Amino acid sequence: MTAESVQCPVCGEAQRDLWDYDWGTREELTASCGSCNAQYTLIRHVSVSYEARPIGPVAVVADVDQARAGGSDQRRAPVQGEGPYTLDHDDPRRAGAHYPGSVAWWEHAKAWEGYAQRFSGSARDQDAARIAQRGGFGYGELTEYLGHEPETWVINPQFADRQ
Ligand SMILES: [Zn+2]
Repeated sequence: MTAESVQCPVCGEAQRDLWDYDWGTREELTASCGSCNAQYTLIRHVSVSYEARPIGPVAVVADVDQARAGGSDQRRAPVQGEGPYTLDHDDPRRAGAHYPGSVAWWEHAKAWEGYAQRFSGSARDQDAARIAQRGGFGYGELTEYLGHEPETWVINPQFADRQ
């Protein structure tokens, strides 16, 4: 039986505070029952598990082609497309629409700070890396949270010929 408390194998009395023994690196030792004084072998089972958590924002490379061309210091975050951006450019309904693109990571992180200041609780828990993984902010959101239009916005390559 494996548990945090055991029963004395002689009298059945519960034996507690088992971590109080001087285990050192030992996995078993001789203990004596607090009730009947019988000695018994006490065995300790130790299990270890590991977890990794990021220290700061995680680098998310939005554009694989860009990563190949630019190397790791060209860290960028995606920017979601907004509005009916697939409509013709002379279509009035297209006003204010933005193609999907990307911005420099620092600008995404800066916008995230503005975003985090406005929200509390669960909304704020979406850190910059997670927002990037979910597609990033929209162009309008970036403008709102930065206080101005993004400076490093670049259209996604697949739309470049349509701009
Ligand atoms: Zn006992």
